Amino acid sequence: MAMRMSSLFLRTLRENPADAEVPSHQLLVRAGYIRRVSPGIYTWLPLGLKVLKRVETIVREEMDAIGAQELLFPALLPREPYEATGRWTEYGPNVFRLKDRKDGDYLLGPTHEEMFTLAVKDMFSSYKDLPVSLYQIQIKYRDEARPRAGILRGREFIMKDSYSFDIDEAGLDKSYQLHRDAYVRIFDRLGFHYVIVQAMAGAMGGSKSEEFLATAENGEDTYVRCANCGYAANVEAVRVPAPEPVSYADLPAAHAEDTPDTPTIETLVAHLNSAFPREDREWTAGDTLKNVIVMLVHPDGTREPLAIGVPGDREVDEKRLAAQVEPAVVEAFDEAAFAANPALVKGYIGPGALGAEGSAKVRYLLDPRVAEGTSWVTGANEQGRHVIGLVAGRDFTADGTIEAADVRPGDACPSCSEGLESARGIEMGHIFQLGRKYAEALDLKVLDENGKLQTVIMGSYGVGVSRAVACIAEGNHDDFGLVWPRNISPADVHIVAAGKDDTILTYGEELTRALQAEGIEVLFDDRKQASPGVKFKDAELIGIPTIVVVGKGLAEGTIEIKDRRSGERRSVSTTDALAQIRAEIAR
Ligand code: ATP
Ligand code: MG
Repeated sequence: MAMRMSSLFLRTLRENPADAEVPSHQLLVRAGYIRRVSPGIYTWLPLGLKVLKRVETIVREEMDAIGAQELLFPALLPREPYEATGRWTEYGPNVFRLKDRKDGDYLLGPTHEEMFTLAVKDMFSSYKDLPVSLYQIQIKYRDEARPRAGILRGREFIMKDSYSFDIDEAGLDKSYQLHRDAYVRIFDRLGFHYVIVQAMAGAMGGSKSEEFLATAENGEDTYVRCANCGYAANVEAVRVPAPEPVSYADLPAAHAEDTPDTPTIETLVAHLNSAFPREDREWTAGDTLKNVIVMLVHPDGTREPLAIGVPGDREVDEKRLAAQVEPAVVEAFDEAAFAANPALVKGYIGPGALGAEGSAKVRYLLDPRVAEGTSWVTGANEQGRHVIGLVAGRDFTADGTIEAADVRPGDACPSCSEGLESARGIEMGHIFQLGRKYAEALDLKVLDENGKLQTVIMGSYGVGVSRAVACIAEGNHDDFGLVWPRNISPADVHIVAAGKDDTILTYGEELTRALQAEGIEVLFDDRKQASPGVKFKDAELIGIPTIVVVGKGLAEGTIEIKDRRSGERRSVSTTDALAQIRAEIAR
């Protein structure tokens, strides 16, 4: 059925909605594709639903092509399976939890590893049943701390999630590769510019993991890439190569010095250079060891201070730290926390107070660059004092290392040592080898060829289907509105009846029917009250790639075909109209 503007459930808006900051959000609301119900919760209007279905179709076709089978789980799930894997607690405030009338605990599924694992356990018992890959395209719920940019980061959103089940690692590698290849085809068809980067496995557990990031300046993810060797990784997953330990046999003893009013790295470096000048060179921020204290809040609610030691020329990167301590979340170490830990002298915290042996007994993790034998200027745990020449491994140790320091353009590539480049992107897909974590927790075993029970090995693979709509819109718009790629557009042709003449409306209607009869999807602007100017504006806002204008020219037997992207327009004869439109669509 062709859509007609006179009856289509649509209201376009001339103004951007007040809460919309990014173009995709502004335009999808203004052009009548989606409508907000509550923060991060949106209604799909008819035009939006068409686009969503097109994205779904592409995803479905490529999943089917690798032999994955579609099913559909409920979104409303009982607590028990999530309790068994620990995720009922681990997911923390991100999960929507609720009770039924008998006081039973339920949740709205944020992701479905547990359900798929149990379904396979329910139905399969032998290695002969494997491998199998199952998927669904389904609504997910996450009570995101910061829902953002409309459907880009929703609290209710649509995900394609699939899961592979294999008897051994070699099988998992194959299933993983099949999914990876399918994802390449999906994101190619969706028209994204994207990169595949190494990723953190996050709350899912598991090992090998990659993300598909659509490149976008305002993306929430930062990744680095090496032009020399092709290494690419989400900054969360970058592992800094630890320098080899160096000998400290010849290093002088550490000495504490008065450094009044030097609570920041900048003031400290300035003071060092005036009061303790070096002979070989100036002191720099990179000579200092900065100890940052944060408060971890564990899923069970317990709070634990954590100290992180990084070279003073680096910052602790919030996202890298968050990825490392997950499922705990990071909060600031506030004045009250300092008051409760008098051994921590704000601005002058040194290793002496930290670690299992330190006076404050705060867990202490070091950046890998603080390798054995390196010498530092760092806090002396006294107001206005620092220690010079404190040597790692000789004068202090920590409870371990942590990858939390910021990663910068120009940093050495972990794989070839050339300089890294940095850019931003939007996570569109995530694939990872889960291993046996879920199968073990839920006891999914099958008999192997020797009649022995083996724990099944799994992979987990997600595509943000609703996010993809936002992301495509983000990459395909201009000052006037959306410009859909042809295979995503809600219709193939937008016919504008530019005039109130009956002949114009009648011809538009005939053209609509003729195109529709050929399977070409049409949106026909047949409104009598709207002026041609309003109709043109709406057509540009809505963004169907081919606009056909039926107007004054009709009297001379011509109509106009306009390319929404290039703005190029040409006049064609009505006798040739069908063929010309067909050709335009095929371009
Ligand atoms: P993010 O880091 O963006 O929060 P995630 O790593 O938590 O995402 P996954 O659990 O890997 O997400 O989910 C698979 C895919 O689902 C993601 O790659 C993304 O495309 C999509 N997705 C995740 N969260 C949301 C959301 N809140 N709104 C829309 N899509 C989402
Ligand atoms: Mg992810």
